[in-house]
Order: sequence, then C-alpha cells, then structure tokens
Amino acid sequence: MEKWICSTCGTQFPPSEQPPETCPICLDERQYVGYNGQQWTTLAKLKNEGFRNEFKEHEPGLIGIGTTPSFAIGERALLIQSSQGNILWDCMSLIDEETIVHIKQLGGLKAIAISHPHYYSTMVEWATSFDIPIFLHEADRQWVMYHSEHISFWSGETFPLSNNMTLVRLGGHFAGGTVLHWQQGVEGKGALLAGDIIQVVADRQWVSFMYSYPNLIPLPASEIKRIQDTIAPYPFERLYGAWFERVVTHDAHAVVLRSADRYIRALQSLPHTSH
Ligand SMILES: [Zn+2]
Ligand SMILES: [Zn+2]
Repeated sequence: MEKWICSTCGTQFPPSEQPPETCPICLDERQYVGYNGQQWTTLAKLKNEGFRNEFKEHEPGLIGIGTTPSFAIGERALLIQSSQGNILWDCMSLIDEETIVHIKQLGGLKAIAISHPHYYSTMVEWATSFDIPIFLHEADRQWVMYHSEHISFWSGETFPLSNNMTLVRLGGHFAGGTVLHWQQGVEGKGALLAGDIIQVVADRQWVSFMYSYPNLIPLPASEIKRIQDTIAPYPFERLYGAWFERVVTHDAHAVVLRSADRYIRALQSLPHTSH
C-alpha cells in the first residue's frame, strides 16, 4: 500500500495498492492535467530524489517553508510563532524528519489552517506527525481527498484561530477560499496571509484574483466587489502571497483595494486611469 501523491497539485491520497485513476483536483478546471498525463509519486520517492525543505524568516515570528527544487505548484507554507502556540498557514507535500525536528526547535505546532484545496497537499501527514487539528472551510469539503479525524471544518465568514489571528473567508478562487489576518504582524500594523486567494502579481505593487490561474479564467465583477468589501475592515501593512518572493511589503491594504477597483474597471470596459 502507498499513499500516492499527485505530481501536479501535490495532493496525497489515502493508502491504496495502485495509484488512483485520476486526481479530481487536477481534473477540475481550476487546475490541469499535465501534457504527459496524470503522474504520481510518493513521499519516499520525493526524499530519494533529493527534495528537501528550506526555511526562511520573512519577519520576526513568521517563517516560510518551501521545497527545493520546487515540487507541484511550488507550495510554500508559513509558520507563525505565537505565545498561544504556533500556526502552520497553508501546507506543502514534502514532510521529512529534518523538517519535523526544525519545526520542533521553533516551538512546534498547535494547528494548521489552509487557504484552499491547492494547498491541502499532505496535510494529514503533517497533522498526524504533530497530532494537531487542520482547519478547513466547509464549503470546500468535496475537495478533501484524504479524510482524517484531524480535519475540522469551520463554517460562516470568520473563524478566530487565536486572539490575534482570524481566518476570513473570501471565496472567489474557491467557495471556501480563506485568508489569515495576523493582527500582530509587521510590528502590530497587521499582515494578511493570502495564498493565491489574493494573488500578488509580478511587480508586487498590485494583486489580482482569478477563478483559475493556469487556465486564466477571471472572476465576475460582483465577486471582486464582494471580496473587496469583505477584506476592507481588516488593517494590514503587508500581504504574503503564495510563494517566497510574492510579498507586498508596504501599504498592502490600499494595494488590494485599488487592485480590486482596477479589475472591476477592466471587466466593465471603463477607461483605464493610472494611479
Ligand atoms: Zn492533482
Ligand atoms: Zn489555487
């Protein structure tokens, strides 16, 4: 029996003799099956092939964890250190002994919270290793491929992880699309951990929002407006996107609001005005 991992999206499936026939997450139009068809791997194979995790401090109390060389979507998780227990934001496929030891040195983990199914990866492996819960929005329940007693579904629009960390459901890319508002981040000015629910674009002065990134399917203006209104009450100076280098370092709240305005203007074919 093997716990097969989809090589394209990094999702792990429950133990089986043969690999699953398909990966529903990749068959969905928000992902894709690669040109060479569905490919599978395992954690043991990844380790043998020399994949390893690197840790990088983004700011005091916030450590990025990413796999090198890049695997699947290139998922990068973030570990938030807190006196109330550390949180792992988003997840990634590779988990090995070295990673577990390093995280224990950083104070261990209290819980995992994940933005959307493209980061579910090997979440059950992580939760089992640290014996901790995983918080997922219930609207994305159908995309859980590997069920576990560690998974806890939350519902509604917000969920308090601690007294300074709040999960906010923004939807858009996925119905349960979640961001994490970290009030204490950036010396108390606030940080938003957004995955690709809000995508930091190349110049890092703007963000965008898509139903599908690989297939370039946009969201309707009404959704962008709803996302803009939902995030508006939360102050944050910095926004951490899906990958190490995708960070809006300053004035990120204003960046998100003006980017939503630009997006809506583009969809409504109104004249472009520069800022
Ligand atoms: Zn997949
Ligand atoms: Zn995604």
